[in-house]
Amino acid sequence: MKGSTMRILITGAAGFLGSHLCDRLLAEGHTVTGMDNFITGSPDNLAHLAGHPRFSFIRHDVSNFIFVPGRLDAILHFASPASPNANSPRGYVNLPIQTMKAGALGTHNTLGLARANKARFLLASTSEIYGDPIEHPQRESYWGHVDPNGIRSVYDEAKRFAEALTMAYHRFHGIDTRIVRIFNTFGPRMHLDDGRVVPNFLSQALCGKPLTIYGDGQQTRSFCYVSDLIDGIVRLLYSDIHDPVNIGNPTETTILEFANSINRLAGNSAGIVYKDLRSEGDPQRRQPDITRARSLLSWEPKVTMEEGITLTIPYFQEKLGLSGGCCS
Ligand code: NAD
Ligand code: UDP
Repeated sequence: MKGSTMRILITGAAGFLGSHLCDRLLAEGHTVTGMDNFITGSPDNLAHLAGHPRFSFIRHDVSNFIFVPGRLDAILHFASPASPNANSPRGYVNLPIQTMKAGALGTHNTLGLARANKARFLLASTSEIYGDPIEHPQRESYWGHVDPNGIRSVYDEAKRFAEALTMAYHRFHGIDTRIVRIFNTFGPRMHLDDGRVVPNFLSQALCGKPLTIYGDGQQTRSFCYVSDLIDGIVRLLYSDIHDPVNIGNPTETTILEFANSINRLAGNSAGIVYKDLRSEGDPQRRQPDITRARSLLSWEPKVTMEEGITLTIPYFQEKLGLSGGCCS
C-alpha cells in the first residue's frame, strides 16, 4: 500500500498519538479525516492543520454509530482515554464507562465502518493487555496476567475485547486488520495534567520542584519517543501482518533511574519525594520484546530516552509558560 495514497480516518485524532499520526500520514500524501470528542484530547493538537487541503475533522463520540461521507481506504482506531492516573480527571480510572465504551462499542463501530468501506483497519492496543506481567520481557505470544475487575480493568479488558473483536472481524468477515501493542510513549503534545509519569516529572523538574515517585521507584518501564512509535505504526499499516505486533523501546529503566535522568536533563536540583500513590495493579515490570517488529517490519527505535526528553523539554517549557520563567 506504500506508494498509493489513501483516504484515512483516524479516531482519537486530537490526542497525543493521534495528532502525530495525522501529521505523518498527511506528510506521506494521504488524505486524512480526524475524529474526536475531546474527552481527553485537545483541539490545540490539531490547530496547525486548520486549512490543510487534505485534512478534515469530525467531532464525534466513536461509541455512537459513525457516519463518514465518501469512501475510506483505511481506519486507525486510537480513540480511548489512556492515562492510568487516578489523580487526574483525564485518567481512565475516572472515566471508566467511557473507556469501556470507546474500547468495545468504538471498536465495533469502527470495524463495521471498515467492513462497509472494505477498508484496512488498525487497532491501537496496549502493553496493558499483558497486565502485571509474569513473563519478562513481553512477547506477543504471552497471554498476560490481568485483573479482570480491578480499577485498571476498564482499560485492560476493553483493549483485550477490542483485540478479540478485531481478530473476529478478520477471521469471520475477512477484514484486513492490524493490531499494534503500544508500550509507554512520550513526546510533545502529551497533556500536562494527565498524570502520566513523563508529564508529571517534566512539569515538576522544569518548575524546580521535587519529582513525585509513587512507591519505591523500583518498578520499571521502557520509554519510546513518539517519532519512533509513529514510524513503527506506519510500517505496520503498510504491511500485511494481522497478528499483534509490539512497538516500543526495549531499553528498560526503573522509575527511580528515570527520575534522576529527568532531573539531570532539566537541570533540576530539587530531588525526589516518595509518595504512597501507586495505583492498584500498577505493573512492576514492563519491557517489550520487539523481535517480531524487527524481523517483519525492519523496525527498531532510533531515539534514546535522553535524546527524546531533550526534544520534549521545549514543548513543556512553552506550555508551562516558562519563557517568562514562572510556575504556579
Ligand atoms: P490521548 O488521551 O492523548 O488521546 C486519545 C484521544 O481519544 C483523545 O483526543 C480523546 O479525546 C479521544 N477519545 C477518547 N474517547 C473517545 C470517544 N469515545 N470518541 C472520540 N474520541 C475519543 O491518549 P494517547 O496517549 O494519544 O493514546 C492514543 C491511543 O493509543 C489510545 O487508544 C491508547 O490506548 C493507545 N496507547 C497509548 C500509549 C501511550 O504511551 N501514549 C500506550 C499504549 C496505548
Ligand atoms: N509514576 C510515578 N510518579 C508520577 C507518575 C507516575 O512514580 O508522578 C509511576 C507510576 O506509578 C508507574 C510509572 O510511573 O509505576 C508509569 O506510570 P504512567 O502513569 O506513566 O503509566 P503506566 O505505565 O503505569 O501505564
